[in-house]
Amino acid sequence: MLVKSIYKKRSEKSSHSQNSTSCNGNIFTPSAPPLDTINDRRINASEAYEIVNSESNFDSNPQLNMATFVTTWMEPTAIRLMKESLDINYIDKLIYPQTIELEKRCVSILANLYNASEEDNPTGTSTVGSTEASLLAGMNYKFLWKKHREKYGKESDTVKPEIIFGSNVQVCWKKFAKYFEVKPIIIPIGSDNKIDVNEVAKKLSDKTICVVGILGNTFSGEFDDIKALNKVIDKYNKNHQWKISIHVDAACGGFIAPFYNMYKDISWDFRLKWVKSINISGHKYGLVYAGIGWAIWRNRHEIDDELIFQIDYLGGVQDDFSLNFTKNANNVIAQYYNLTRQGQEGYEEIINYMYDIQHRLTKKFNSLKIFGTKIFKIENKFPGIPVVILSLTKEAEEMGIEPGKLAQKIKEYGWSIPAYPLPTPFENKIILRMVLKVGFNYGMADKLFEDMESSIFSLINDQSDSTAALSCGSTCV
Ligand SMILES: *Cc1c(COP(=O)(O)O)cnc(C)c1O
Repeated sequence: MLVKSIYKKRSEKSSHSQNSTSCNGNIFTPSAPPLDTINDRRINASEAYEIVNSESNFDSNPQLNMATFVTTWMEPTAIRLMKESLDINYIDKLIYPQTIELEKRCVSILANLYNASEEDNPTGTSTVGSTEASLLAGMNYKFLWKKHREKYGKESDTVKPEIIFGSNVQVCWKKFAKYFEVKPIIIPIGSDNKIDVNEVAKKLSDKTICVVGILGNTFSGEFDDIKALNKVIDKYNKNHQWKISIHVDAACGGFIAPFYNMYKDISWDFRLKWVKSINISGHKYGLVYAGIGWAIWRNRHEIDDELIFQIDYLGGVQDDFSLNFTKNANNVIAQYYNLTRQGQEGYEEIINYMYDIQHRLTKKFNSLKIFGTKIFKIENKFPGIPVVILSLTKEAEEMGIEPGKLAQKIKEYGWSIPAYPLPTPFENKIILRMVLKVGFNYGMADKLFEDMESSIFSLINDQSDSTAALSCGSTCV
């Protein structure tokens, strides 16, 4: 997060913070928290703990955060492993070879889940999240594109490369285009909330470095039709020297599709010829705390060698393809723990449970009537990730219920539920999104529904109070 400093000159520092009296207990915290400049004096650990810990009281409860896809609950045994490996720097691959062995096993397991074949030579890396993974994948396609042009004597310095993606992509792809100076060709979604494949076909050219498909878009959860995307790209590639690849952003779907019976037959991965790379967020449905992601390539030779650095100052030579260097190894270890602990059966059970809750909630929201008026329309479509996406019916809006106000009202019950517009061209439709993930259960779902009902009543009451006040005002004048 890019934050603005609250800069004050050192001389303006509160005298209070300079005169901290040491106290051994934690009943009093006489020292003021340092806001802009470092304190002169040291304070004792328990006081510092209380000062810092008390700040978290003002944050929302992660268990009631329905806005995020990111894991907010892990098993005590997983947490134990994570704590025990807090002092391991992932990049010291030669000092901690077993950590790298676990990373290798995770990459292999994922490549297998994504149906890499015998002839493939899948290769991958852990990353800080799907963002780093997608930046790496996109950058590699840009390099491959440039090398191809150089090889065939085509100008590349004056031609701006292009990347094609839908208006439903997560911000990481817009970042990629901006940071790596690639022109984004943004395809509006169709009424099914998926990238419009026919529109993609019209934009393919020798400037296209790759096309991105999303397996579970951030806005409303649907899977893009990657198979259809593969078909139009196959048609293009048959008649052109430059072969365009597909990158699948499976940040959420990569840990869902292989574990849900209804989705197992959907081809979206290395079963499709032109899918050459996939990114996944281990810290979403991979069930690990933030930040871990994965980038998997179908073949080692599809990564430009120029991008892989051989690092030799940590006691031997090792390959490195990442945007950063040091990071904690504990998420990799936790990912391997989850794969070991859950297996196919465990992930399946968890995913099935999430869809059960999704069905229960969508049914309830769909049939919710207040004073005889239907309130919600269900906006999520099949296939997609376990989310509940609601928009308000016209009649509900006429009763004074607005998505933003509803999101604000239900916050009073502790729930964080975002309200925002759908991607282009449906930006006039405002939706509410609830992400269902591990740690959420039937009891919480029922409470969420009750609180939503109460919030609606409360908004209607506020509305009638203000109309009453207004009408009173007008009669009084
Ligand atoms: C969350 C998400 C991202 C970004 O992933 P991080 O792991 O948060 O960096 C990218 N794409 C999609 C579809 C996502 O859902």
